[in-house]
Amino acid sequence: MTLRKTILIAKHGLEWYENYNKKRSSMERKTILIAKHGLEWYENHNKKHAAKLRRWRVEHSDVNRALRKKYYYRDAKDPVKVAQRRAYNRQWNKNVKIRVLEHYGGNPPRCVCCNESILQFLTIDHTNNDGSLQRKTNPFTRHHLGYWLWQNGYPNGYQVLCWNCNVGKGLSGGQCPHKGL
Ligand SMILES: [Zn+2]
Ligand SMILES: [Zn+2]
Repeated sequence: MTLRKTILIAKHGLEWYENYNKKRSSMERKTILIAKHGLEWYENHNKKHAAKLRRWRVEHSDVNRALRKKYYYRDAKDPVKVAQRRAYNRQWNKNVKIRVLEHYGGNPPRCVCCNESILQFLTIDHTNNDGSLQRKTNPFTRHHLGYWLWQNGYPNGYQVLCWNCNVGKGLSGGQCPHKGL
């Protein structure tokens, strides 16, 4: 038993300690803290806490890297954790895609050619058809174009097209067949 645990149990009793030490999800913690201190306090506290963590990560970047590696390999053996991480990543990627599509294609995003608005059909198109050149000179954009655009402040030269119009444009030398009809 650690010293801290002994002191806390002597002070508050075992039942209190077990409740205090219980594993809680971040949502549960949030609810408890807001009930106790109010929303304003919580938001302020949350901001300070996040800043503290950020500072720690910068000042201890080597420790941080080692910890991330350790937890990554620990969780890689746990199928539940792996599934959770996949779901989280999928949602994160989707959020990036929506953000980028909304920037270039309005809200809700639409294909500039045919007005298609179903997200799964929408792609980012290189307005000047220099996509293959960019993929060669900057291989990262081959699979992560959306992320790259977001991180680089949404440069000009891109628009939203649906897959149909995108492929149609590619096959017909730079203009979607819709326009030629
Ligand atoms: Zn279209
Ligand atoms: Zn079209």
